[in-house]
Amino acid sequence: MIDELITLVDDAHGVDAPRRHPDLPPWKLLIVDDDEEVHDATQFVLRDLVIFERPLCLLHAYSAGEAREQLRRHRDIAVAILDVVMETERAGLDLVGYIRDELGLAECRIILRTGQPGYAPELTVIHQHDINDYRTKADLTHTRLITMVSTALRSYEQFCTIEQSRRGLGLIVHAAADLMEQHAISNLAEGVLTQLAVLLKLPLDGIVCTHRGSPFSEDNGGYCCYVIAAAGRHAPYIAQPLAALPDSRIAYAILSSMAQGQHVFGEDYTVLYLKAAPHQEAAIFLDTGHALSMLDRPLLEVFVSNIAACFRNVNLVERLNHVAYHDPLTHLSNRSRFIADLDGVTREQTDIVVALLDIEHFADLNDGLGQDIGNALLVAVAERLRSMLEPECRIARLGADVFGVIGPEPQVNPTTLFALFQQPFAVDEHQLPVTVTIGLCHDLEHASSGMALLKRANIALNRAKKNLRSHHEYYLVEMEDSTRWRLEIIHQLRRAFDAHQLQPWYQPQIALATGKVVGVEVLLRWPGEQGFIQPPDVFIPLAEYSGLIVQIGAWVLDQACAQHAQLTQWGFTRLKMAVNVSMPQFRKADFVENVAATLVHYRMPPQLLELEITESIAMDEPKVILQKLEALKRLGILIAIDDFGTGYSSLGQLRSLPIDCLKIDKCFVQEIHDGKGGMFAETIVGLSQKLGVGSVAEGVETLEQAGFLRALGCSVAQGYLYAKPMPADQLVEWLRQQATT
Ligand code: C2E
Ligand code: CA
Ligand code: CA
Repeated sequence: MIDELITLVDDAHGVDAPRRHPDLPPWKLLIVDDDEEVHDATQFVLRDLVIFERPLCLLHAYSAGEAREQLRRHRDIAVAILDVVMETERAGLDLVGYIRDELGLAECRIILRTGQPGYAPELTVIHQHDINDYRTKADLTHTRLITMVSTALRSYEQFCTIEQSRRGLGLIVHAAADLMEQHAISNLAEGVLTQLAVLLKLPLDGIVCTHRGSPFSEDNGGYCCYVIAAAGRHAPYIAQPLAALPDSRIAYAILSSMAQGQHVFGEDYTVLYLKAAPHQEAAIFLDTGHALSMLDRPLLEVFVSNIAACFRNVNLVERLNHVAYHDPLTHLSNRSRFIADLDGVTREQTDIVVALLDIEHFADLNDGLGQDIGNALLVAVAERLRSMLEPECRIARLGADVFGVIGPEPQVNPTTLFALFQQPFAVDEHQLPVTVTIGLCHDLEHASSGMALLKRANIALNRAKKNLRSHHEYYLVEMEDSTRWRLEIIHQLRRAFDAHQLQPWYQPQIALATGKVVGVEVLLRWPGEQGFIQPPDVFIPLAEYSGLIVQIGAWVLDQACAQHAQLTQWGFTRLKMAVNVSMPQFRKADFVENVAATLVHYRMPPQLLELEITESIAMDEPKVILQKLEALKRLGILIAIDDFGTGYSSLGQLRSLPIDCLKIDKCFVQEIHDGKGGMFAETIVGLSQKLGVGSVAEGVETLEQAGFLRALGCSVAQGYLYAKPMPADQLVEWLRQQATT
């Protein structure tokens, strides 16, 4: 029996050319053995074999470790032939556990092979792990090996079929169970398709399930037929009238089955007819490629009568479908239908574009003029989209004030879409002007699903909303990558913070006039095993964006004050501690209180704490900031403006803030070289003197810069010339060294 199904190829003589099915992929076989010769021998026997119309693809592993790697990479290995004794006495047996328990690969067939006769694993092991066969190497002659592999492949295929069938049944059962859900009908129909494909071993491609009556409008008199489920090349026609199918043969066959009220068994196709209730009829077209055998027909009839019962249970089929695919307000497609449409588009290779249009300030309008006017406006917008766009465009309402359009590029582009909104909309007695923001996405073929496409268009829309200059944005892969990357970093940062992996480092500040250390700035670090995971320039903005900076910032402050107390104890007194503070921290109502509490807790004199806020923060929300700054000042805390010169503060604004110090951004310090540059530094130092506050130059790297700044009258410097930021223990060392020189 098996011999019939195996075709051995003999290259030299070219006899018995293998009957290879053109569409079926090769079987994957994994050979695991630490003996090179076993591989060669197996390869020699199996190499050119075609079994059940499919060639073999041999994967080799020379240890259990390598085997694990291969198994992880290829989840569809059909047969694994394992040596028992490799790295360890039971390496092969352990591998079996790995395949079944850890990878959960139930279908993969396992053959154990061992060199030592009499080294059989216990029977329980064989049963427990569903091991197919167990042989000594000597046992395995040429034909035995082939027979064994064929048997294993056959049983692998059966396992896969059962699994697929189980999935199909699952869909039907699931659909029947929650019929009241929106997608009940399409789920049910989809389950039917899958199940039929399994029963008849057909590709999912050629099956279409139709239903009399429109799935998305009730006013069709129930005479027209609609596609309610289809797979493969027919998938784009889901929810379309039957006439839309490009293959008129299918439409004709279905209509004649419906007209006769019975199954049609054709030469190369079959139509199954279902009648659930007087006005509930459906038909399923199967592209069988051959006439169904007399054996298959009764099986199908049983199946169909079961399905009819399922359909019967779906009492309000039309209504459900209508609800499932329709927006009741505008009568446009809804989100589900839009996603199904997009699913179809991913399989077409044309210049189709998807656009999302978001009505700006819709919520305000709704609040201001009332919900009825709001609704009427949405209907008017829908009406205009429908009447102005070519019929080939598919339009949907996806959310309260978001519309979606799928169509060819010449129709669906920012220019034509914006033009649709140039005239105001007549609603009631109002003429309402509407502006929209548009997110677009092309290159649709590269998306995996309709859902993925919608997500992309959404990403573009969100970008467009943030873009102040233009009101539209095309999706770019980088957008998603950067979003995903940022979320990942934020996630990692949160974990690192919870696991106490962040560290405060300290950089000394030096009085230019005396060369003495007057303070330190605490700078956060995120160390990993090899260097830093991310620099603060990257993770601090993400911590700010995610709000995590509130917790992290409070912790940095606490650490800095604790460290300050230590330093004081060790005799380094009167050092100033500079701590960076971000906007989200400032916004917290209890920020000032928390700072005060920390100072009290460590008995730290407030005039030794300097909070650094960036210039942009100080100017962005002067009201929020001013109150807090004044409260901090009353406590005696010092305030420095960080990165000064990079923002846009006016002298007037600056004067109104209670500050103690300007920090000259390092870009202005680093301009100073070879006797040139330094104009900005000079201006800022001059400004600080006019305001009667101190100045700290950041990023001082050369003696020339230090000399220049000292000559200007800048009070304090900080930079690699003196010291790089360092962990607390090194700071103490460094301070000790300074004290002795
Ligand atoms: P920043 O407050 O302007 O900090 C000064 C930056 O200049 C630090 O970068 C420091 O390492 C670097 N630097 C110091 N001396 C030199 C030098 O001579 N040459 C050069 N090229 N660079 C020098 P870092 O540590 O990477 O920090 C970057 C930014 O991250 C900081 O800029 C600050 O805005 C923020 N940051 C760091 N730690 C914290 C924190 O605990 N809380 C908050 N809110 N922000 C922090
Ligand atoms: Ca700083
Ligand atoms: Ca700075």
